[in-house]
Amino acid sequence: MELLFALFLGLAIGSFLNVLIVRIPKGENIAFPPSHCPKCDNALKWWHNIPLLSWIFLQGKCAYCKSPISRLYPVVELLTGLVFMTLAMKLGVGVEWFVTGLIFSLLLALSIIDFKYYAVPDSLNFTALALALLMPIFTFGGDWMTDGVKDFSLYQDALLESFKNAAIMGSSFFLLGLAVKFLIKKDALGEADIIIAATMGALLGFPLVLIAIYVSALLAIVPALFARGHMVPFVPFLALGTWIVYIFSDTFLKWWNMLYA
Ligand SMILES: [Zn+2]
Repeated sequence: MELLFALFLGLAIGSFLNVLIVRIPKGENIAFPPSHCPKCDNALKWWHNIPLLSWIFLQGKCAYCKSPISRLYPVVELLTGLVFMTLAMKLGVGVEWFVTGLIFSLLLALSIIDFKYYAVPDSLNFTALALALLMPIFTFGGDWMTDGVKDFSLYQDALLESFKNAAIMGSSFFLLGLAVKFLIKKDALGEADIIIAATMGALLGFPLVLIAIYVSALLAIVPALFARGHMVPFVPFLALGTWIVYIFSDTFLKWWNMLYA
C-alpha cells in the first residue's frame, strides 16, 4: 500500500518534472500558461494530463491535432515513480523519503536536460544541493517538533557534516577539473558537475560518495567509447551512480569494510 502510494506520488511529481524539463531551458514560466500542445496550442484538459495513463490512452498523440507527443513524458513519469517507490522500500514513507525523492527527481530532470542541451540550469542544481545540505533538519524532524529543541548539538553536528562533505567533494571536483583542463586542454568537468558532486557529498557522505563517483565513471565509460569524440553528458551518469549507491548502500558499505577494515 505504502509502495503504491509512493509510486503514484512519484508519477505525479514526474509529470511536474516534465514541465520543468521543457520550460526551464527555454526561460519560460513554470506555472503559467497551463499545459498546452506545443504544436496546436490547445490547452490540455485534466484527463489529457494524467501521468502515464493519458499518454497511453492518447496513443502518444495530441487529442486535438494528433501530432506526436514525445515518449520522454511517460518515461520521465515512470522513472520518477520508480525512484519514489525504490526509496520507499529503503526508507519507508516519511519526511526523509520525500526530501530524498525530491533530490533524486531534480537529478533526473538535470540528467534529461543535460542529454538534450549539454548544459543544465543552475536553479534546479542549487535547489538539489540546498535540499541535500539541509537534510539533517528534515530527518531529525521527529523529536525536534515534539520535544522542542532538546538536543540542538545533534542537528549542528549533522549539518556541519553535510556541509563539510559537500565542500570536500565540490572542491575536489573543481581541482580535478583544473587538472584535466591542464592535461588535455578540454573542459571535461563543468560547473554543473561540481555542484552535483557537492550534492552527492552531502547526501551520501564518506565513503559512499567515493564509491558513487567510481560507479558513475564506470557507467560512463561505455558510452564515452562509442561517442568517439562526441560530447557525453556526465550528469546522467552521476545521477544514476548516486541512485544505485544510495539504494544499495548497505551492500556497498559491506564491501568497503571487507576491503579496508
Ligand atoms: Zn496539438
